[in-house]
Amino acid sequence: MVKPFVPQLVYVEPRALEYPLGKKLLKKFEDMDIEIRETTSHNQIRNLPGENHFQKYRMAKSTLVVGVRKTLKFDTSKPSAEYAIPFATGCMGHCHYCYLQTTMGSKPYIRTYVNVEEIFDAAEEYMRERAPDPTRFEASCTSDIVGVDHLTHTLKRAIEYFGESEHGRLRFVTKFAHVDHLLDAKHNGKTRFRFSINDDYIIKYFEPGTSRLNERIDAAAKIAEAGYPLGFIVAPIYLHEGWKEGYKEMFEKLEAELPSYARKDLTFEMIQHRFTKPAKRVIEQNYPMTKLELDESKRKWKWGKYGIGKYVYTTEEQEDIKDTLGGYINHYFPEAKIEYFT
Ligand code: SF4
Repeated sequence: MVKPFVPQLVYVEPRALEYPLGKKLLKKFEDMDIEIRETTSHNQIRNLPGENHFQKYRMAKSTLVVGVRKTLKFDTSKPSAEYAIPFATGCMGHCHYCYLQTTMGSKPYIRTYVNVEEIFDAAEEYMRERAPDPTRFEASCTSDIVGVDHLTHTLKRAIEYFGESEHGRLRFVTKFAHVDHLLDAKHNGKTRFRFSINDDYIIKYFEPGTSRLNERIDAAAKIAEAGYPLGFIVAPIYLHEGWKEGYKEMFEKLEAELPSYARKDLTFEMIQHRFTKPAKRVIEQNYPMTKLELDESKRKWKWGKYGIGKYVYTTEEQEDIKDTLGGYINHYFPEAKIEYFT
């Protein structure tokens, strides 16, 4: 059982203390007896404990920065939402294929932003521009927001904020099962709570530091019981020996545990494993012992964003994935909607 995240080290930006949440978190971490350091900006964090890259990287992933979000211009977030809403960046998990390794580069520590009201105000503007069409905000583009929320309750506030909004919708995805504080949030059906799932083999070998499949499924059942629209992202779909059996077992478990009323408005997203050349280099540095298959010659090359090509499965393999996993979903959850495969 993965315990809820507790940082080993906390940095506080002085400006964060101008906000109620900043003060509250400082007091909380003092009471928890966690080492606290002051920093004028997270960019100044250079002297993290550790003798080499491997140790410093791990320390950074146990470090929480309490800061202020300066950029209130939101990135777009296709295909699952219109905008990415920034409540936090970074993650305490150690998934070998995590995209944050390349996007966060040398700053893998976790940051939580305390100017939540200002972030809501910015969201309000985006909603106004698109009204009366709904605007969907994705809260997990740069972090696993649920993984840190038992400490900050920012996500809980956001769920209630969008619950009251006329045109806003919130969505996020998590690999963590620490959802109890979110069960009584007044979501009004405006938040789609998604869990990222994978078969036991993949979680065991490639997703250290995250909740196990059974824990995620138990949490999903609780979330369904709390009346949230529910979804699952099967990602990254990774072909290992016995993958068809592994994924079948995953869907069987899901089908056995999920209450029947959760199946009517259920979504699935499917994302195959992919990597870029820069990502491969970082993965080999951060997780040198990984069993992850990163052989370009076995993959198909595909144009990616910003001109960086990515390596995906071959066309035949992709068809096989779609048929096999799509088939399981149709069989076990005939009422669910498959949103996309990418
Ligand atoms: S849980 Fe998600 S964000 Fe965290 S390390 Fe794993 S893939 Fe990355």
